[in-house]
Amino acid sequence: MPAEFRIVRTPGALTTAMEAWKRSGYRVALVPTMGALHAGHLALVAEGLKHADKVAASIFVNPKQFGPLEDLDKYPRDEAGDAAKLQAAGCELLYAPSLADMYPPGFASYVKVAGLPDRLCGAVRPGHFDGVATVVSKLLAASRADVGVFGEKDWQQLAIIRRMAADLDLGTRIIGAGIVRDDDGLALSSRNMYLSVGERAQALALPKALAAAREALNGGAAVAPVLAAAHLALAQAGFNRVDYVELVDGETLMPLDAVAVGARLMAAGVVGTTRLIDNAAV
Ligand code: AMP
Repeated sequence: MPAEFRIVRTPGALTTAMEAWKRSGYRVALVPTMGALHAGHLALVAEGLKHADKVAASIFVNPKQFGPLEDLDKYPRDEAGDAAKLQAAGCELLYAPSLADMYPPGFASYVKVAGLPDRLCGAVRPGHFDGVATVVSKLLAASRADVGVFGEKDWQQLAIIRRMAADLDLGTRIIGAGIVRDDDGLALSSRNMYLSVGERAQALALPKALAAAREALNGGAAVAPVLAAAHLALAQAGFNRVDYVELVDGETLMPLDAVAVGARLMAAGVVGTTRLIDNAAV
C-alpha cells in the first residue's frame, strides 16, 4: 500500500499536487469516476499504474450528464469506502470536488463533440455526452495528466473522449481498459446495485445475447438476423426496453452491415427501471 494518500477538493489543489509529481519526474495518470467504486474502477487504477508512476482518481457525480428523469439524486455515494478501495489499489490521490468547486456561479462553458454522441446511448440520453465531454475536459485540464484511463464498458464515451482529447490538443493520452465482469458475465456497474434479485437474473441476458451474437458473427452469419435475434432475446428475457443492438465501427460508431476490423457489438436496454449497457469486440 502506498505510504501516501491524499484527498484534494479544488481544481487548483489538484493541479498543484499533479504538477509537484511531474516536477519530480513522475508520469501521472488520472482515473475519472462517479464513485460507488467496484472492481471495474479499480482495474482502471491498475491499468494507470502500467502507464504512469502515480495514479490519481476523481470522484464527482456530474449533474450535467444526467437527464431530468435520471437517477442523479439516488446515485450511490460512499466517499470513505471509495477512498479506502483506491488506496488499497495503489492510487495516491483522490480528487473529490464539491459541486460549487466544479461549477461555480457563472459557469457557462461547454464542450460538445459533434457526430459521435448522436447515435446509440446519445440518441436516448440527449445532452448526456456533452455533460461527459465538459466534465472530462475540466478534469484533464486541471490534472494535467499524462494519461487518462477510461473503461471500455462505456465504449461510446471512450470514443468521444478520445476524439475530444485529440481535437482539443489536451496532451493527455487516453487509454481504454477492458470490461470487468462478475463471474456470471454481467459487466460490473455502479447501477447494478439497483437491480432486484429477479432483475439481476434478467440482466444476464445482455452479456449472453452479445456473446451469442459475437459467436454467430465470427462464424460468418449475416449481421441483420443476428442483431434481430439478440434484440428478441433481450425482450424475451424481460427487458422493458431495448434501446439498441448494433454492430458498429469501434471508432466512428457508424453501423456496419458486415464484420470488419475494429467492429464492435453494442447493446443497451432497461431492466426494471435500470438502464444497462454492454459491448463486445467481434
Ligand atoms: P462511472 O463511475 O460509472 O462513471 O465509471 C467510471 C469509469 O469506470 C469509466 O471510465 C467507466 O467506463 C469505467 N468502468 C465502469 N464499469 C466498468 C467495468 N465493469 N469495467 C471496466 N471499466 C468500467
